Amino acid sequence: MSSHTHNHVHTIADDIKDKTFQDVSLCYQCGKCSAGCPVRYYMDVAPNKVVRLIQLGFYEEALKSTTPWLCAGCMTCSSRCPQEFDLAKFMDAVRETAIEKGVKVKDKDIITFHKAFLNQIKSFGRAYEVGLVAEYKLKTMHLFDDVDSSPGMLLKGKLKVLPHNIKDKESVKKIFKKTAKK
Ligand code: SF4
Ligand code: SF4
Repeated sequence: MSSHTHNHVHTIADDIKDKTFQDVSLCYQCGKCSAGCPVRYYMDVAPNKVVRLIQLGFYEEALKSTTPWLCAGCMTCSSRCPQEFDLAKFMDAVRETAIEKGVKVKDKDIITFHKAFLNQIKSFGRAYEVGLVAEYKLKTMHLFDDVDSSPGMLLKGKLKVLPHNIKDKESVKKIFKKTAKK
């Protein structure tokens, strides 16, 4: 499948490069990104390891991972990276590629949740402190499994609890812009 010949085969790494304008080889696996990721504990593969999988050509493992779907786009990783590798942007590209390639993500509910979550936040027309958003996303993910609870209602009710101060409006807006295309 991934046999390399002298003719350059357009790889998933190339796809990601096209989408993000950055090369995965920039990352030297220092792990600073994952150390600061508020959602790391819940991910099946650490954020830096998703980059590693792509670097090594283990595309399926990377695209199947729940990690990009749990990523809250908080940009903590991107701002910490000594290589200025924008991991948040990379995660967007991995999600996009997984959709394009029709890859079956390990937990399909995560995709539904991801979309419902973003739509809900968007419909509030107000940005929230992104770390809290990440945490909130995780807390509600399992509630989403309840057969009778509408995710919309659930999120509406719970989101009122979040503070109204806007600390990172621009980055949240960016996330929506990118994700809204899907
Ligand atoms: S902080 Fe940057 S260089 Fe370090 S592992 Fe993460 S993406 Fe790679
Ligand atoms: S943008 Fe995603 S991967 Fe990066 S620190 Fe935030 S939640 Fe983790």
